[in-house]
Amino acid sequence: MLPLQGADQFAELLQPEVNLGVGDELGDRDARVDLLAQIDGSRVHTVGSKHEGIELRFDGAGHRIDFAALVGRSVWLYPQHEALKDLIAARLAAGQDLRFGVTVSGVEDIDTDRPRVIATDAEGAAITIEADFVVGADGSRSSIRTAITGPHGGAFREYPFAWFGILCEAPPSADELIYSNSPDGFALISQRSPQVQRMYFQCDPNDDPNALSEAEIWDTLQKRVPGHELTEGPIFQRDVLRFRSFVAHELRRGRAAIVGDAAHTVPPTGAKGMNLAVADVILLARALDALLNSGDATVIDGWADAARERIWKAQHFSWWMTQMLHINPTDSDFDRRRQLGELRTIVDSEAGRAYLAEAYTGWPLGAV
Ligand SMILES: Cc1cc2nc3c(=O)[nH]c(=O)nc-3n(C[C@H](O)[C@H](O)[C@H](O)COP(=O)(O)OP(=O)(O)OC[C@H]3O[C@@H](n4cnc5c(N)ncnc54)[C@H](O)[C@@H]3O)c2cc1C
Repeated sequence: MLPLQGADQFAELLQPEVNLGVGDELGDRDARVDLLAQIDGSRVHTVGSKHEGIELRFDGAGHRIDFAALVGRSVWLYPQHEALKDLIAARLAAGQDLRFGVTVSGVEDIDTDRPRVIATDAEGAAITIEADFVVGADGSRSSIRTAITGPHGGAFREYPFAWFGILCEAPPSADELIYSNSPDGFALISQRSPQVQRMYFQCDPNDDPNALSEAEIWDTLQKRVPGHELTEGPIFQRDVLRFRSFVAHELRRGRAAIVGDAAHTVPPTGAKGMNLAVADVILLARALDALLNSGDATVIDGWADAARERIWKAQHFSWWMTQMLHINPTDSDFDRRRQLGELRTIVDSEAGRAYLAEAYTGWPLGAV
């Protein structure tokens, strides 16, 4: 969605009826929030809210990780669908070619200078778009990924648990996010606005989101944050969200690249998915600017390796937060006690807290 000077032949293809993602949190370590804030009409600093820390909760007590004091940084809670509205409004205001309801089925000729996107429009008519470069930003079920990676795909890991997520009408239960490890499983107490709250608890991936009554959901959530009273309210949305870690072996082939969830997915613990997607696009925009406006291919040739380094750092952080905070159903008594030792190591050590704060708020983008 980033404007690229002199390259208005790019068309972004969107299916607004498909889930646009549920991420609410953006780290401000580098240019990502600044970039969203610079977009004409952006509301990230007006609708979004700034958080300078989170609470890690275990053994019935909360421990604040003070981002501002530890690394001088913060995060912004800004619903992903609001960020998307800002981006769409900016592109439409600039008169750029933005098409809704288009379904891409694949790409052709990506090893030439004129790759082609094969798609159908909102009425089902076949369309072909010829471009200088194709960017697949079409999420975890990307329709162009195999054209880039080949049949080998990528490296992935599945987890034996999922998140039961709710949106409810209630005032916030806490000023900052609470990441809670309890003997019954993980819970995340998040905030959406003064009137609407988002919360999650660890569940079985096969659980039916409609099988629990509202009272059972509140009971489960409350048990997962012992010692902290939640403010309850009517639940108006509920989902079971499976998650897995994935990184495509190849991010670019010829004149096509994949970014965001098309290239990698992370478990949501640690709020890295959308942040990584925005970082991918900022870095790729620089490489495409050099390639298409200056005829310099060196930046795009180094892009995938540079992007991969950052992706694997985020993969590690997301996996680390996930395994430290969730209860694995096959864990032994030893595993459980070791996990509490790990949490204690983090909260008791300034170096441990600083690592968490640095990774959570995000790493600098670097030159490429
Ligand atoms: C529970 C949960 C909580 C999360 N919390 C956070 C958070 O706090 N912070 C954070 O940074 N991230 C978070 N994430 C991750 C974040 O939502 C994703 O990483 C992010 O949405 C990825 O963006 P994307 O643009 O790559 O893909 P998507 O958001 O999936 O967008 C893909 C787009 O491509 C379109 N599309 C798909 N297929 C086609 C096709 N064949 N043709 C045309 N268009 C197509 C879709 O309609 C969609 O518009 C969370 C994720 C989950 C599940």
